[in-house]
Amino acid sequence: TGDLLREAANKGDELGQKIKEILDKGELVTDELVYEVLKKKLAQEECRNGYILDGFPRNVEQAIKYDEILSDMNLDLGVVILLNIPEDLLMKRITGRRICSNCGEIYNIYDELMTPKKDSVCDKCGCMLYQRSDDNEETFNNRFKTYLLKTEPLINYYRDKGALYVVENRDDKYKVLSEIEKIINGLGDSVD
Ligand code: AMP
Repeated sequence: TGDLLREAANKGDELGQKIKEILDKGELVTDELVYEVLKKKLAQEECRNGYILDGFPRNVEQAIKYDEILSDMNLDLGVVILLNIPEDLLMKRITGRRICSNCGEIYNIYDELMTPKKDSVCDKCGCMLYQRSDDNEETFNNRFKTYLLKTEPLINYYRDKGALYVVENRDDKYKVLSEIEKIINGLGDSVD
């Protein structure tokens, strides 16, 4: 949903301007707006054989609404994966993140395994890297507060449904990816 909202923000119209202001403050966009972009996406052909939601739901109201959306669409919840990470490492992941403006590849200037070979240039396609306007320390602190207040309660919500899986997100991305694959393939242990 973050990507979908950034896309809407970049349109530069009045609505886009409003969304950008909220994103830059590190607060949550209104639930109604998120449902609108999400429903549009889920109705697309590319979601037909399944999808991964990243950044949604962000609060309990959205989780309840998502249960309704799933039941209207006759779909199962599937699995919910918590990527667990300590706050100091998360801060580095966010403030060091650089993204390719062309292919979307993600780099991190604080992680030697993820630093681009040439400063600000994508190793894969040679295009310029950029930093998200909300990936600064001040907005990070606000995003983290918003997470603790609004999003963290979802851990109990999904644990109670028996749908919650936890992956430790300190290690390199390949290890994390293989853990996620195991869970999606039905080989993980849910938390109860
Ligand atoms: P992300 O790309 O997941 O880091 O999200 C970036 C920003 O987009 C968040 O700080 C929120 O302002 C907004 N956002 C993303 N997903 C949601 C959501 N489900 N509900 C409300 N706001 C959201």
